Amino acid sequence: MVETPGSQSSLHRANLERVVRAVRMAGSLTQAEIARTTGLSAATVSNIVRELKQSGTVQVTPTSAGGRRARAVSLSGDAGAVVGVDFGHSHLRVAVGNLAHQVLAEEAEPIDVDASADEGFDRAEQLVHRLVAATGISREKLIGVGLGVPGPIDVETGELGSTSILPGWAGTHPRQELASRLGVPVYVDNDANLGALGEQVWGNGRGAGDLAYIKVASGVGAGLVISGQIYRGPGGTAGEIGHITLDESGPVCRCGNRGCLETFTAARYVLPLLHSSHGTDLTMTRVVELARDGDPGCRRVVADIGRHIGSGVANLCNLLNPSRVVLGGDLAEAGDLVLGPVRDSVARYAIPSAARQLTVVPGTLGGRAEVLGALALVLSEMGDATLLDPAGGSSHGAQVKGEPGTRRNRSASARAGASPEGGRRRTPVGAVVGFS
Ligand SMILES: [Zn+2]
Repeated sequence: MVETPGSQSSLHRANLERVVRAVRMAGSLTQAEIARTTGLSAATVSNIVRELKQSGTVQVTPTSAGGRRARAVSLSGDAGAVVGVDFGHSHLRVAVGNLAHQVLAEEAEPIDVDASADEGFDRAEQLVHRLVAATGISREKLIGVGLGVPGPIDVETGELGSTSILPGWAGTHPRQELASRLGVPVYVDNDANLGALGEQVWGNGRGAGDLAYIKVASGVGAGLVISGQIYRGPGGTAGEIGHITLDESGPVCRCGNRGCLETFTAARYVLPLLHSSHGTDLTMTRVVELARDGDPGCRRVVADIGRHIGSGVANLCNLLNPSRVVLGGDLAEAGDLVLGPVRDSVARYAIPSAARQLTVVPGTLGGRAEVLGALALVLSEMGDATLLDPAGGSSHGAQVKGEPGTRRNRSASARAGASPEGGRRRTPVGAVVGFS
């Protein structure tokens, strides 16, 4: 059947998708919140929720909102499972979650990710298999894997943009590699973007449509959410806040410029400031601990980092006018010792109208932000056809293609066809990615 745009059935289908998408991204919403998010009337939402409940797509549980009884709508926990894989420079973290936004299993292990990409993928593959087995979820319920890597990812090709950051990964294609090992679609993004998604969906960025997540670790990066969407730029390098110039005659940065924000904030530049006074075996985590314990030298270093980050944030404010900045990474553990100076610099350097609406908050997810963001990435990109056409029907392919976030999703059909489960899998044609 060919549906004409504007016909009753295509309108109904569009409304179904709006409701499923809202719940998919938020985890759980009351019917009133669904109405607000989608712009649909309360009556329409009520009808659609009833229909989705009957088909087993959503579950409805009693809750309270503003002291009144309400019904919380979430996707059915057993409708499917998603996996997050986060490679840091020195750790691998994997989480398995369901579509109701519940994390069912999670584990991290130390690993020298830079040393060998092959070893990294081997370990990731093993850990994913082990955790999925531990949850008792059958493999055909797996909808996709979100993968975070600590480097810029080309949005179109999924290739790692800079091999100077991960030398052991030169020539690898992380999305394809993991997809062929696991036999499910893989979505990839850099760690700062995933941190932003993680905090937006699960943490301290909730409710903010325009936010920047600043991660200070071995480098400094920002994940930008603009009007509710991650902004990546065509080359995937948006948010490289670490290379804003603060001092033209400052130290030479790894990017080749001088005096980048990173040279005033990243561990490798900052820790040497404490070598003569505190010894050479410090880590950023330890500096933050000492600062919290009242060590004046470490407090000074943490405050200076905050001041410099604040300069970068002020630039970001003037350009993008976000409503919230979430500070992640180890440094967030310093709380107001770092956030105070960040706020001071923003007040000093940003134009008042941009600074006025901004709140600067610490991340609440700590080292889990990226792996939870990887789960959120799958939830964001999986499309609604997975849930609305469980038989794998492709009759709505045209609508699926128009969905946000699927422009880099190419060969789901090839992937689904190649998987051992073949057509039995719920994964529909055209809705999810694969790899080119
Ligand atoms: Zn630089």
